[in-house]
Order: sequence, then C-alpha cells, then structure tokens
Amino acid sequence: MCEQCGPVDGAERAAADLGPVGLSRRGLLLGAGAGLGLALTGASGLASPAVAAPSAAGSLKNGQWCNPARGHFPKGGHYGAPRGGGPHAGQDVTNSVGTAIYAAAAGTVIRRGSGVLGGRSGNGLVISHGGGRYTYYGHLHRFRVGLNARVGAGQRIADMGATGNVTGPHLHFEVHSGGLGGITNPVSYLAARGVDLGGGWPTLDPGAGGATVKALQYVLTRRGHELVADGDSGAVSVRAVKAFQSARELVADGQVGPKTWPHLVYTLRQGHSGSHVRGLQTVLNKHSAGLAVDGGFGSVTRTAVRAFQDANRLVVDGEAGPKTWTALVG
Ligand SMILES: [Zn+2]
Repeated sequence: MCEQCGPVDGAERAAADLGPVGLSRRGLLLGAGAGLGLALTGASGLASPAVAAPSAAGSLKNGQWCNPARGHFPKGGHYGAPRGGGPHAGQDVTNSVGTAIYAAAAGTVIRRGSGVLGGRSGNGLVISHGGGRYTYYGHLHRFRVGLNARVGAGQRIADMGATGNVTGPHLHFEVHSGGLGGITNPVSYLAARGVDLGGGWPTLDPGAGGATVKALQYVLTRRGHELVADGDSGAVSVRAVKAFQSARELVADGQVGPKTWPHLVYTLRQGHSGSHVRGLQTVLNKHSAGLAVDGGFGSVTRTAVRAFQDANRLVVDGEAGPKTWTALVG
C-alpha cells in the first residue's frame, strides 16, 4: 500500500529531525553524535523505567493504550518490511479516506504538519506520551487537533488519508521508545499493552484504569455485580470480574480479554436504559462523542453510535453490537 512510507533513515536525517519542539539540547546532541543506531540501543535502557511507571499494579495491560485506527494490515506494510532507505519504520493500517484516527495514548501533540519527521512524507502528527515515548501518525487527510494540544487516549486526532508517497489511503503508525528515533515494533508494543492493532478485543489486567475500565464497571453492574464506576480496576472490580468469569465457566483470572468481553457486552439500541448504556456512553466519549452519561439510549446516543460506526467503517445501524463494542473498547 505504501511503497515508500516511513523508511528508517540514516543518522544525519534522524539528527536533523530532532527539531525545535519538545526536545532538549542534550537530546539534540545525543541524536547528532550517536545517530539512530545508538538511539535504538539506548531504547532498551531508557524504556524500562518509563514504561513501568504507569503500571504500578505490575502489568502493562493497564488500559492506558488503545487502537489508533480500524482497518487491515496490507501485504508488505508490516513493520520491518524492506524499503528503499531501510526497513519500514511502522505498521500500515488500510481503510478509506476519512476513517477516524485516534490517539494511541494520552499525551501532547509536539509535531503537526507536512513532513514533520525525516523520511516520512505527507501530513503527520507526533504525540509525546512522556518517558521518552512517542507515536507517529502518517499520510493523514485532515488534522482534528492543534499543535501542543493535550489529548486523551482514544481521542480523535485526525482522519486517515493518502498524502505523501502512497499508493492508497492508510495510516502509517509508528511507536518510538527511549526517545524520538527509538523505532519500536508497534504491533508487539501495543500487544504487550493489551491492544490488538489488528482490531480485536483488548486485554485489561487487574489494576488497569481509564475510561474503558469505567465502562467495564458500568457493564458489570448491569450484570449484577454492583460497582462504583471510578475507572480504577482495584480489588473489588477484580473480584467482580472473577465471579462473572466463574459463573460463565471462563478462566477466572480477573483479566478481561478476548474470551471475556463477548460475554460481558450487551447489544444496545435506542430505547434501552441502565448502567450498560452508561458504559456505552463512556466509551463513546473516550472517542470524542461528548455525550451526557445518563444511561438513556435516546436519539442523541443513537446519532453518536451511528457517527462512530461511520467513522470506523462499520455497518451504520445505530445499534451497539459486538463489532461496534470491539471497536469502542479496543
Ligand atoms: Zn508505512
């Protein structure tokens, strides 16, 4: 799909691109002196403490990361695929122009424009997630956030496009760890954090947090395990998950993954009301719907479901079934 997008460039380019925004002088010098090779070596040393920080509960599947786009992996668009200037630096996800692009984690937009990273063509965004972690989104059709904007995980930041050297519309997605230039395999990076870049159900470990956990708590409440929807998967929530799993004859490990999610979610449509609808509204809001979380599935919620389905190229029926839920919680 993208013949030339995102080759890992040489040290000169990488150094030149450690640009004016958001990077220290030390980072600039390090980039210039050491080049990409050392940046990669440094990644392993720097990444561990940075990545460990938000997962105090001992797991990386902590609910802080999510899928940046729905689509499929094109042939030859995988991370590491041969390119003219070096291996492919990201993973391509194809879909049509206008497909929603979401922030893969909370952070700050530090680059926004055309050719914002060396060797990458077209419109791109770089988000800094702190701790030397960055994500890059390439070939965008339209930006939906400004430079320096603070974004939440799952917030819509752009529309998929075909700008730059491409043969068709897709997202070129990169993860950098241990500093900008610390190219990392985005598929395995996200998988280790419970996210399936291929589009399947996510995995949340005990101790996870965030909007998806909040939605999970609302849904579990509807399933008869009354919880405070605080977005913090502590001991009480884990007990509820285990009880739910036991009752369904699933492995009662307290981890909410691809085997548990399909049993948990409800197919919801206009006229429904209750805690499960609050869960739906919560994950719609994670993806920028801006709904009141009132537990009533009225016309406003229906419009939001339809808009989400349309933006993610799902069947647009205004009904939240398993496919829509997968996209919402993924
Ligand atoms: Zn690419």
